[in-house]
Amino acid sequence: MDFQAHEIRDKIQINYKYSLGGQSKFFIELMKNKKILGTKCTKCGRIWMPPRINCSECYVPADWVELKQTGVIDVSTIVWYTTSAFVENIPYGVAYVKLDGADTSLLQGIFSENLVPSKIKKGSRVKAVFKKEREGKMTDFFFVPEGEYENWINKPEFEGGE
Ligand SMILES: [Zn+2]
Repeated sequence: MDFQAHEIRDKIQINYKYSLGGQSKFFIELMKNKKILGTKCTKCGRIWMPPRINCSECYVPADWVELKQTGVIDVSTIVWYTTSAFVENIPYGVAYVKLDGADTSLLQGIFSENLVPSKIKKGSRVKAVFKKEREGKMTDFFFVPEGEYENWINKPEFEGGE
């Protein structure tokens, strides 16, 4: 008699914690103080965002530095298909943003009222907006076109940083 495996469809929910290790300071400062921290190489002075504990060029330690909350879009796209966690936000932008003073770019969400591609094209200026209820996660903040900043921080669930 041939073997036939019987399969049952089910869900598994797992509660878990994981440590953010050397990157923890970035998330703690984001959550508690609405600061965006990068790191500065102690040898070449390159400013890393997202922060790296050691410079990826020199392999020496980097120090924490606070960065400005404004920057410019390097490259972007508009998201129409996403996971359940973000489906309510569709359509939204995702972009590599180079914060003013940083040497590298951070991949982060870009929200805009009436989002159209021209609002998030390369070279567009953006500013960080923070959730009032922060958890120490990347989703604690996002960027908006600079011209929409005041509108966003006046919404009840959001606030400005610096
Ligand atoms: Zn370096």
